Parts: sequence; structure tokens; C-alpha cells
Amino acid sequence: MAKVEFRHVVKRFGDVEVIPDLNLTIEDGEFVALLGPSGCGKSTSLFILAGIYLPSGGELLFDGRVVNEVEAKDRNVGIVFQSYALYPHMTVRDNVLFPLRFKRMPREEALARVAAAGNLVQVTELLDRRPGELSGGQQQRVALARALVKEPQLLLLDEPLSNLDATLRLTMRTEIKSLQKKLGVTTVLVTHDQIEATTMADRIICLRAGRIEQIGQPDDLYRRPQSLFIAGFIVVGSALIVEALYHPPYWVHAVLWLPLIFIVTIGPLRPMKGLMIALQYHHKAAEGRFTSDDSR
Ligand code: ADP
Ligand code: MG
Repeated sequence: MAKVEFRHVVKRFGDVEVIPDLNLTIEDGEFVALLGPSGCGKSTSLFILAGIYLPSGGELLFDGRVVNEVEAKDRNVGIVFQSYALYPHMTVRDNVLFPLRFKRMPREEALARVAAAGNLVQVTELLDRRPGELSGGQQQRVALARALVKEPQLLLLDEPLSNLDATLRLTMRTEIKSLQKKLGVTTVLVTHDQIEATTMADRIICLRAGRIEQIGQPDDLYRRPQSLFIAGFIVVGSALIVEALYHPPYWVHAVLWLPLIFIVTIGPLRPMKGLMIALQYHHKAAEGRFTSDDSR
């Protein structure tokens, strides 16, 4: 398994700097979520880890070794794409077998690996079918088996549940989390879904426009958001944030996020020092969602 470090990693597409300066350490065996709104650079960061994108600057390290120049196929990384990207003309068995094609491995051993990975995610009965004959949930499991068959040192999941219906999404969250615990594989989950991140990951890295806005355990982000952005993004729906700007002689500006924004202004609008109060109501159901619970 691997410890992963981004050191001043930059990614540009032409003139557009998507990731200006990413510094992040992911511990061996950890399950982290990269959380943020669409377009903030989550998939880009994941593709840099996978070796699909080369960083434009900085260093990426696996277990202390710089891997910038190491090709994707040599990184021993398993990835599940948002679209699953299964080969439609191949059987499930051949799809799962595919990542082993570059490994010098006897066919018997490769097939045994496929059987083991298939067993882990419960697709054993589906091995002779083609992706077109599977439900979305089954395809998702096959994509997971394909990512696990190399026994990767790093598992990368790009919005893996976003194409599933709500009930299946709930089941898969729990299954992926317990599978990760069982295998102990360092895992990076990319998601824009706060609930998915908070229920699955040990630690959340909140991204905004390619920069880390806050890192913490789910509970930290929920209870101690360090910015309005985090408060609005993580706690939306259960928080009332009141921004009261005080400036003598008593000009008050209040902003309420419900999540609609109302601006109540008394006095002229101009920049001033202020005080922000975030009120959250905690009810039992919400509490349970945000406390780590290994019994799940
Ligand atoms: P997220 O996964 O957080 O939704 P992405 O990492 O896919 O966001 O994209 C971040 C930004 O980088 C977006 O503005 C996107 O348009 C841009 N981008 C991503 N991949 C490419 C690419 N191959 N070429 C040009 N721009 C890209
Ligand atoms: Mg993405």
C-alpha cells in the first residue's frame, strides 16, 4: 500500500491553471475524499495520481519516491471512472482480466485473481455476460473488480456512485467502505456529494478552484467550518449562517444563508471588519450521519 504526497503540484491546460499549488499527504491505508463543486479540479487531481495526466509542475511521491515520470501502467493504481468505461464487446471476465495484460503472469494465476476480485464484489455469476446485459449497479461492481484485480497500492474512485439510484447508492457506500477497511488499500474518492464524503471517508479534503479550502475529519468540517464556503457547502440545509458586520457607529449588515441569500443592510455598503455567527441545529438523524461509525 502507499503513502501519497503532492508537493507543490501544478496543473495547467494551456493558459488555464486548474491546480495552482497542491500540497497534500495521504497516509498509507487512509480513505480520503476529495470534495468540491463541479469543475474545481477533483478529477484532474485523481488523473494526476493515476498517471493519466502529467503534472505541469511540482512533485508527486508514492512512498517517498517521485513518480512524475512513472507511466500509468507501472503505478499499480486501480481506478473506477465515473462512466465505468467497461469494454462493451468483452465479457465481464475479460474486462476484469484486462489490467493484468501487461503483467507477466500465468493465465491460471490471472484467472484466479479475476475470480477473487469477482468474489469480493459479488459478480461471480456475471463473469460470462457482457456489460450491456448488466444493470448499472452490476456494471459498477465490475468496474470495482477491474480496479482491484491488480491488488493496487492505491484505489481511485471518480464519483463512482453518481449513476446509481438512491437505494443502491446507500448500499454501495457501505460496501465500498467496508471493502476498503478489509483490504486496507489507500483510497481516494472524488465526489461533489457532501453526504457521500462524510459517510465514507476518514478525512475530507475540500477543494475550491483547485485549492484546498479545508481538510478535516467529517465532524470537523461539519462543526467547525473555517469559511462561509465550507459552511455553505457542507452544512447546507441544516445551518443558518448569520453574518453580522459591525462598525461604529452601528452600521449592521446581515447575510442569511438558508441556503437562499438575503442581504439586510442598514447603512452604507463598504468593506468593514465583521463577525460571523453560524447557527446550526443538530437533530439526532444528522448527528448520526456525521459521527464515524465503524459498525456500519
Ligand atoms: P471536477 O472533477 O472537480 O468537476 P475537473 O478536474 O474535471 O473538475 O476539471 C477542472 C477544470 O479543468 C475544469 O474547468 C475543466 O474544464 C478543466 N479541464 C479538465 N480536463 C481538461 C483537459 N483535458 N483539457 C482542458 N481543460 C480541462
Ligand atoms: Mg470530475
